Amino acid sequence: MEQTLTAKLQILVGPEDRQILSDTMDAYVKGCNFVSEKIFRTRELNRYHIHKEVYYPLRTLFGLRSQMAESCIRTAVGKYRAILAAQKEWIQPVFRKPQLDLVWNRDYSLHPQTNLFSVNTLRGRLKVPFCAKGYEESFSGSYRFGTARLVRKQGKYYLYVSVTGEKPELERSEVTRVVGIDRGIRFLAVAYDSEGRTEFFRGNTVKQKRAHYKVLRNGLQKVGTPSSRRRLKAIGQRENRWMRDVNHCISKSLAENNPEGTMFVLEDLTGIRAATERVRVQDRFVSVSWPYLDLEQKLTYKALKRHQRVERVDPAYTSQTCPKCGHTELGNRDKKQHLFCCKSCGYRSNDDRIGAMNLYRMGMEILEHDTVAEE
Ligand SMILES: [Zn+2]
Repeated sequence: MEQTLTAKLQILVGPEDRQILSDTMDAYVKGCNFVSEKIFRTRELNRYHIHKEVYYPLRTLFGLRSQMAESCIRTAVGKYRAILAAQKEWIQPVFRKPQLDLVWNRDYSLHPQTNLFSVNTLRGRLKVPFCAKGYEESFSGSYRFGTARLVRKQGKYYLYVSVTGEKPELERSEVTRVVGIDRGIRFLAVAYDSEGRTEFFRGNTVKQKRAHYKVLRNGLQKVGTPSSRRRLKAIGQRENRWMRDVNHCISKSLAENNPEGTMFVLEDLTGIRAATERVRVQDRFVSVSWPYLDLEQKLTYKALKRHQRVERVDPAYTSQTCPKCGHTELGNRDKKQHLFCCKSCGYRSNDDRIGAMNLYRMGMEILEHDTVAEE
């Protein structure tokens, strides 16, 4: 799993080096403001056109090196694009704080073995020590550095550098907690965890909204004109965006509210069996459709980032099996009363959480099985 983060490294400089860095940053900021003014007057955002106008002045007026001049142009254009995207109007950015934008291997490099930061300045290469406290992990194993920004704050120098590295997947042997997640209709998702807590994610509004979209779609399908087909497509896209957003919120909540080392256990819904077993006929249009797989994908991605994992298990009978004794019988569940009552051990519970409890139990069994196999 690839992960990019911004590391903040303190750069440790003596008085003489401090002067060199300070002069370089000042010249760079002046250069950025020079380009910014030029863009504001010409409304020109094409880097190659701007380059023709400003490159030599940047070199001669501010003494910038070739790469620094290029970076001034890129930084100013980038700032304008960001402002235009957000505010939709031409506002001239003014660069006030000392900064220096750097491209890896061209303008700067970092050497973890010697703890040295090497950077191009107005007076050539400068090598100074850096402190990677808190980011040691970024400098072990396979990592790549991206662009960086050198800044000065209260007399101290910091390098903000984007670091991309492989984050190892959480192995089953490292799992410390299990959360069973059942996906249903009455509740979009129900989670049951190692501490015996149940969390319900409401599905009612989702069900209503999807039914509403379905009615809209059916009406338009009957009309069949080109404009109704366009409307149909637009409605479909709106519905999909909205559903993805719901899934994003649920998966985010699950990943963020559970610690590292958590294993989420979900039904493997690749087959059709789960749907025919658990869903009433009039609800079928919300059953084995992409939203469920979308939720699974989103959770898998977020879990990887947080050093958690997702395990998929066979969904057979999850709603009919007693989570306490494992007894499976259709009659365990009273769908009308939303009640689960085990015919064997007498365990009773609201039936909405039974699926999640069983998934939790199946997850624990997988871990136990792993342990036995190891010994
Ligand atoms: Zn039982």
